[in-house]
Amino acid sequence: MKNKITILGGGPAGLAIAYYSNQNNLSFNLYESSNRVGGNCITISHKNFLYDSGAHRLHDKDAETIKIIKNILGNDLKLIHVPSQIYRDGCFIDFPLSPLNLLKFLGLRNFIISIFQIIKEKVKKKSVHNSFHEMAINTYGKKISYLFLIYYTEKLWGLPTTYLSPEVAGKRLKGLNIKTFILEAFSKKIKKTAHLDGYFYYPKYGIGSIFEKMSLIFQDQVNLSDAAIRINHLNYKITSVVFKKSGLVPVDVLVSSLPIEKMIFLLNPSPPIEVIESAKRIKFRNIVLVSLFLNKKSINMNGSMYFPSKKYPFTRIYEPKNRSEFMSPVDKTSLIVEIPCQKEDDFWKCDDKKNIDRISSMLIDIGFFKFKDIIDAKVDRITHAYPVLEKKYKQKTFLITDYLSQFKNLKMTGRNGLFSYTHIHDHMINGRKIVDSITKNS
Ligand SMILES: Cc1cc2nc3c(=O)[nH]c(=O)nc-3n(C[C@H](O)[C@H](O)[C@H](O)COP(=O)(O)OP(=O)(O)OC[C@H]3O[C@@H](n4cnc5c(N)ncnc54)[C@H](O)[C@@H]3O)c2cc1C
Repeated sequence: MKNKITILGGGPAGLAIAYYSNQNNLSFNLYESSNRVGGNCITISHKNFLYDSGAHRLHDKDAETIKIIKNILGNDLKLIHVPSQIYRDGCFIDFPLSPLNLLKFLGLRNFIISIFQIIKEKVKKKSVHNSFHEMAINTYGKKISYLFLIYYTEKLWGLPTTYLSPEVAGKRLKGLNIKTFILEAFSKKIKKTAHLDGYFYYPKYGIGSIFEKMSLIFQDQVNLSDAAIRINHLNYKITSVVFKKSGLVPVDVLVSSLPIEKMIFLLNPSPPIEVIESAKRIKFRNIVLVSLFLNKKSINMNGSMYFPSKKYPFTRIYEPKNRSEFMSPVDKTSLIVEIPCQKEDDFWKCDDKKNIDRISSMLIDIGFFKFKDIIDAKVDRITHAYPVLEKKYKQKTFLITDYLSQFKNLKMTGRNGLFSYTHIHDHMINGRKIVDSITKNS
């Protein structure tokens, strides 16, 4: 008998669909190409250390998501307080930007210039921004934007900020307005406001444990190492999927979290040539993770450290132990360095040793540790970490999204399936909505 729902991909988005299907007693099967669940949101184990596939936090943006994850993890989900900082020109500055720290970093003269630049931008009252560049300058003025945002964003997304959609900012440029900025800077009662949000939920054994535990609820329906290799369709209806191990599986409703370009290439018969050409043009950003395991108790107390300077190829470093003490042995720690890149870039292609050597020497220069402290190191490569949201990307992907939307029994979900800068809670909300609509129509 056909399952009601066939799910492609066992990352957070695919698992959210499985979770809600299970809750709603809908029959389903999930197929994941790799040998584990979690997609780009996993916790990797290396000897006595644990680390995530890049610095992850569970955002408290959707009460139901938090409730579900609390139920799944019980006491293993903790509310922690670990604020982050920006490292620039040898100094640490609070992230998100705090006026007091900026004042210290810039000096009074440059700080006042920056405030005037922000006021000048605010007077323009732009509510719509055409690019990330415009949005950054309009929010923070030229000086602060160039110091902290422009080069950082270019490193992260691999394009000049004038080419990028304002959506790449996520929620990062919110929560700091000119009033709080000036008040905080000059108020005697200096109090850190809500924008210094160092609080978040984090599991005892790393972010990936959420999805490992979740998948155990319906483990018989999870098929690992079973990639979709062809998706058959007729008259804008998906009829079946061919899997590497399971072979041909007839489909009632297909929910896919695969990257949209992959989806297009798997369809049989092939979509029109203009759709295929459009799929070939869209870009995803990858990340090389260089992890250094250290014979040192601690580096510092930061949640994450952000590196906006062009001098460094990495954007962010995090110390797993600061999120949960169970991530490293008591007397040791680790640093996980994120280097965004394309597959053509040297960081992606070169051998692990070269990556480890050049990153560790940069961190030794900064003063985080000494060469003798390095016990071990590892390199991981993450593909499809971010969909590259160029300016007017919705128009650029319209041919693909419009073509896929015509399939009556196909729903797309996930960061790369929807080509949007989404997070765990977004996948849960979307999973809930998709399964609701399937339940209502069945
Ligand atoms: C560095 C980094 C930091 C992040 N930080 C946060 C954070 O702090 N908070 C937060 O909420 N989110 C964060 N995220 C985002 C979160 O990890 C992603 O939203 C999430 O991984 C995307 O989930 P997904 O299920 O859409 O896709 P993925 O995780 O990419 O999962 C897709 C799955 O599909 C599988 N697949 C591919 N092809 C096939 C095929 N042919 N057949 C079957 N399966 C296939 C893949 O193996 C993969 O498992 C971060 C992501 C990165 C990369």
